[in-house]
Parts: sequence; C-alpha cells; structure tokens
Amino acid sequence: MPHSASSPAARTDVELKAQLRAAGLRVTGIRLSIMRALRASRTALDATALDEQLAAAGEHADRVTVYRTLNTLVDSGIAHRIDPGDRIFRYSLTDHAHCTEGHHEHEHPHMVCDACGAVECIEDAEVVIKPRAKAETTPRSPRKFRITQQSVLLHGMCERCGET
Ligand SMILES: [Zn+2]
Ligand SMILES: [Zn+2]
Ligand SMILES: [Zn+2]
Repeated sequence: MPHSASSPAARTDVELKAQLRAAGLRVTGIRLSIMRALRASRTALDATALDEQLAAAGEHADRVTVYRTLNTLVDSGIAHRIDPGDRIFRYSLTDHAHCTEGHHEHEHPHMVCDACGAVECIEDAEVVIKPRAKAETTPRSPRKFRITQQSVLLHGMCERCGET
C-alpha cells in the first residue's frame, strides 16, 4: 500500500505518479486525470461530477472506463468510496500521510450536506465507539461484534448551503 508524505490536496503530479507505481499500477492518462480531478476537489466526487471535470480538462473517457479506473484506484487504496445513503458513490483520494507500511488507519467520518449532496472527508478525525461507562456487557455491545468496516456520516448543511 503506497503512502505519501503530503496530504491529498497538496500532492504534486510527481507524487501521484509515484503513488500509482508504488501500488504496482502503470501510469496512464486516465488514472492520472482522475487523481488530478479528485485532488482538485474539496468535496468527494461522483462519476457524473468526474465526467464534467475530465471534459473540462480536455480528457474524454467513457463511463465504463471511469468506473473501472475508480475501482482500480479504490482497490489499491489510493482512493476511497463513500456511500452517503443516496446510492450514488462518491470518491476521494485517501490520505496515507500518517500511515506506516502495513498499518493503515484512516476510517474517518464524512460530512454530508442534505441540501446539495456534497460529501466531505474529515481526515483528521476518528470515531471510537465504546460502551457507556456503566453499561453491562450485552450481546449488543460492539465488543462482541467484529467490526470490519466503519462508515460514519454526519448529516447537516455545508458552508455554501448554510449561507442562504
Ligand atoms: Zn493508509
Ligand atoms: Zn450544500
Ligand atoms: Zn473520506
């Protein structure tokens, strides 16, 4: 799993290419274009928004190629997929800045704007679920449930929608 010293938004093209190579992936135009589009966006992007970004950058890829590339980036840990509950996946670059080789811990919460659907990573936060101090250990306790994936969504209004 590749990890980079800088945050996703600050990564240079050289770093993006290095990340692809470190993941054992060839540097292709479409992979780089999608990574650039994700890097440039403050919010996580869905495939439609990505199409628009790619078109604006003069890159034309069909939807199948975009999805296939996104799956490749997600499988390699370069990007992650967020399902904010509206059945439209959003994608964002993953921040491996604080990871070490073989140890990845960045299951962060996501903010979802209920007005415009914007999804944003809260990379520097983690959610820890623990039983209440005085609670008896019951079968419902997370201690008896092996958690394989964590998905925490914080619903509300983004800065832009809250202004009006
Ligand atoms: Zn990591
Ligand atoms: Zn909004
Ligand atoms: Zn995220």
